[in-house]
Amino acid sequence: MQLYSTKNKKNLVTLKEAVMKGLPDDNGLFMPKNILPLPDRFFEALSRMSFVETAQAVVTHLIGDDIPPAALSQLVEEAFNFPVPLVQIDEKTAVLELFHGPSLAFKDFGARFMARLMGYFNQTENERLIILVATSGDTGGAVASGFYKTPGIEVVILYPSGKVSPLQEKQLTTLGHNITALEVDGTFDDCQAIVKEAFLDKALNQQLRLSSANSINIARLIPQSLYYFEAYKQLQIAGNTLPVVFSVPSGNFGNLTAGILAKKMGLPIEHIIAATNLNDIVPHYLNTGQYEPKMSVRTISNAMDVGNPSNFARLMDLYQKEQCHTCDMMGQDIKGYAFDDDKTKKAVKHIYEEFQYLMDPHGAVGYLALKEYQQIYPDSIGVILETAHPAKFIEEVENILNTKITIPERLAKLAKEPKSAISISTDYKDFKAWISKHDF
Ligand SMILES: *Cc1c(COP(=O)(O)O)cnc(C)c1O
Repeated sequence: MQLYSTKNKKNLVTLKEAVMKGLPDDNGLFMPKNILPLPDRFFEALSRMSFVETAQAVVTHLIGDDIPPAALSQLVEEAFNFPVPLVQIDEKTAVLELFHGPSLAFKDFGARFMARLMGYFNQTENERLIILVATSGDTGGAVASGFYKTPGIEVVILYPSGKVSPLQEKQLTTLGHNITALEVDGTFDDCQAIVKEAFLDKALNQQLRLSSANSINIARLIPQSLYYFEAYKQLQIAGNTLPVVFSVPSGNFGNLTAGILAKKMGLPIEHIIAATNLNDIVPHYLNTGQYEPKMSVRTISNAMDVGNPSNFARLMDLYQKEQCHTCDMMGQDIKGYAFDDDKTKKAVKHIYEEFQYLMDPHGAVGYLALKEYQQIYPDSIGVILETAHPAKFIEEVENILNTKITIPERLAKLAKEPKSAISISTDYKDFKAWISKHDF
């Protein structure tokens, strides 16, 4: 497989290089050089394939022979060891539950796949790889559990003390083994500043092999295209004949971009709906042609509070390739809608009362967008990507519904595990002293 940088298409790299580097030197984003349609026989067989079989076929199609079939088979089997159910709540509305992984959010798909891919590529190295991650809460949990016990890889997570939720903190600090949590007496920005400085520290980089588990690593995007196939397959089995659309609650637009990849690989997706909260940069772009990044505003669907979506560069890149300068190709595929917290809360309540379905605030934004879309395109079946388990946002959801909700067993268990974290100050020297002496 070859990939280029969105800033320089002549700059081609291998999958290994793209995954281990994360970002190209020119500050662009890595993109696959070829995204070709899957053969007809794949789509004929799809309804008989399991998620893992589909994963193997789609990933092989995309990456070619960079990983031998047996190794890839083991990799996808380990990465996707949880169910991906599609729950149809009425004739034209289905919910794809992407929260059955260990961190209860869809980011498990990307993190688990990336961890195993890095582990695979790292096998030929003698020295340990140390992944540094700064987290404001969510990503850290998915990365920690994704890399847990990956041979040859150590993970050091920096999080701001007192500024992540108690359960998020437990997700970072209870695993042990190759996962170390550093509790920084400061903000998320302080954590990020330490990580940045570490990558620029020549002496430290001579002593240790450092890498990042960047959210825009191409290894996170590829697996996120897989569940679009899965939803389509489950609708096929249920006898659906309507055109299929996906409503994607979006922040950095990785999930949505992965849906466009699936469409380019031939999955018959009628439209993809960009559903956002008040951070409506992309719906605004789709409606006006103006891309205007802003400071993010805080909402109850806070994993989507992004003012300058990092994957927008990938979307622009995908649509420039169409060689269509006078017509708006992106707008033909993607429809955008945005909603405020008040509407989102009402939607959580409505979905619960009307369908007895418990939806988290992110999924509820997806529901609202789908319903608005279906007023214009009524002859469609919509799949809402439910990106997180409602228990992840328990206070908000209980407030809206005025009722207690049950916490899944694996999350409840975590609350009782003892926390283990190393306290450090915001001073880089403190971090450096620790990591230089730590026995990995
Ligand atoms: C990360 C996240 C999103 C946003 O996904 P993007 O790929 O960044 O658009 C939506 N919902 C939840 C629960 C998330 O954790």
